[in-house]
Amino acid sequence: MPGNMFNDKGRLNIPEVRHGDSSTIKAEVVVNAVYCPVGHNLISVNHEVSGFPGITVRFSGKKSGEGLISLSAVFGDTSYCVIEGDVDPDEALSLSCPHCGTELDVLASCPCRAEAVTVLGYLYPRKDPHQAIAFCNVLSCPNSAVIRSGEAIRMLSESGF
Ligand SMILES: [Zn+2]
Ligand SMILES: [Zn+2]
Repeated sequence: MPGNMFNDKGRLNIPEVRHGDSSTIKAEVVVNAVYCPVGHNLISVNHEVSGFPGITVRFSGKKSGEGLISLSAVFGDTSYCVIEGDVDPDEALSLSCPHCGTELDVLASCPCRAEAVTVLGYLYPRKDPHQAIAFCNVLSCPNSAVIRSGEAIRMLSESGF
């Protein structure tokens, strides 16, 4: 009988304890809150990317036009999904908050393209560039996957920025 405290020999059933459950490992590498410079949460539970609520931002570009995309909140994952409009994955987009229209703050330029920049999403409603995520505004760029801003800042200082 499932859930019986004792097995058929009358011994207490001790539930198996599993360490390193994959769901807890995943939870550590997923951003669950990202804020615009004004303090709106960009994580949208309505738009899942790679199995987790995505970072939803408004985009605009000369070639892409305007629309809405959801970026993967999983560190190192370049997946995204287009919710509204049509996006050119090779264009440097201007990315803004879908709630207030404020453009995301720029950390630095990205070497992938002339106009490409690494933008910041804050982990707390207050603006702290050291407690943020950073990603390139070109979707086809490997740096479009979110990384911790501290890593981005370290990479920039190592490359002599
Ligand atoms: Zn906002
Ligand atoms: Zn880039």
